[in-house]
Amino acid sequence: MKINGERLWASLMELAKIGATEKGGVKRLALTDLDKQGRDLVVSWGKEAGMSITIDQIGNVFMRRDGTNNALPPVMTGSHIDTQPTGGKFDGNYGVLAGLEVVRTLNDLKIKTEAPIEVAFWTNEEGSRFVPVMMGSGVFCGAFSLETAYAARDVEGKSVGEELERIGYKGPQVPGDHPIGAYFETHIEQGPVLEDADKVIGVVPAVMGLSWYDCVVTGMEAHAGPTPMHLRKDALQVSTRIMQEVVAIANRYPPYGRGTVGMVQVFPNSRNVIPGEVKFSIDLRNVNDELLNTMHEEMLAFIDKTRGETGLKISIERVSYYPPCPFHPECVDAVRSATAKLGYSTMDVVSGAGHDAIYAARLAPAGMIFVPCKDGISHNEIEDAKAEHLEAGCNVLLHAMLERARVV
Ligand SMILES: [Zn+2]
Repeated sequence: MKINGERLWASLMELAKIGATEKGGVKRLALTDLDKQGRDLVVSWGKEAGMSITIDQIGNVFMRRDGTNNALPPVMTGSHIDTQPTGGKFDGNYGVLAGLEVVRTLNDLKIKTEAPIEVAFWTNEEGSRFVPVMMGSGVFCGAFSLETAYAARDVEGKSVGEELERIGYKGPQVPGDHPIGAYFETHIEQGPVLEDADKVIGVVPAVMGLSWYDCVVTGMEAHAGPTPMHLRKDALQVSTRIMQEVVAIANRYPPYGRGTVGMVQVFPNSRNVIPGEVKFSIDLRNVNDELLNTMHEEMLAFIDKTRGETGLKISIERVSYYPPCPFHPECVDAVRSATAKLGYSTMDVVSGAGHDAIYAARLAPAGMIFVPCKDGISHNEIEDAKAEHLEAGCNVLLHAMLERARVV
């Protein structure tokens, strides 16, 4: 039993026309007119496939194909159709349209399932126009309140509540008042691991946890010429020691340790002035919460030591923390056995990026399926994926969902 890869590809290309950019990407920010057009199109496809539509108060949309026993909670799949400002055609959109293709295939083959099947798209996964990210699934699972989400504003001051109303996607259903039997999400990998290993399907056992920090080192601005080296308080030199240590810490905890300094501000940022203050971000990740905590402790200890050795003021504040999210063994196994049955090459790939499945996993057994994307690039207009890989991932989704929903 196989899905129709050409139909899946054609739908992806059709949806990608809404908000298409000159460089071949998509700009369809959450709750804009373009998002409404995209939502309307996907909903129309869902209706054509005979599905009923439910919308909740945060604008999450659930498209449902009845089972023979509708008292059972649905086996759900989904993702998001909002994009980054310079986003691609596949991030999120693939997960939603793969779900639709599963339903179209079941219709073609006149297959009935015991449990209902639902295809969801979650509001504002990208977090580009409105913070926090993964907003729809976050409200759905109770990570934060509907009021918090409604109050979020974009740079022009428009709120989520107003914009949902304006585009007609503020639905009646209370978020979370909607049982889920099991949740699967297909997604492009957004990293280079599968392509590098020449594998088609990534079985995702877990999503990495992360810890984000803001660090500020304060020294003393002084003239670069008259100030001898031993009398300086150079905030940048001290900062670079910490930056090197961030990478060293990650390297001490392979294979899933990650350490990144991605944002640096130097003051006054002048060629002949010794930097007086440096602000920078630190991003630590690991798939194991104990190791992530060890990395956290080692970093704080290093900062204490550096403070003692240099006498400079160093402040560090943790601004975000998500624990690692292991997926449910039964769903991971369903993905693994579907992949084996279909004969695709495969490996386990831990997700380094956040997905709606993380929040869904708080409510129901969940699992993810990754397919390669070109050069591991996403959140970029040049994001690309091969039709045959997208088709393979969708076939795995079909069989994994059928295992949970049971064919009658
Ligand atoms: Zn995504």
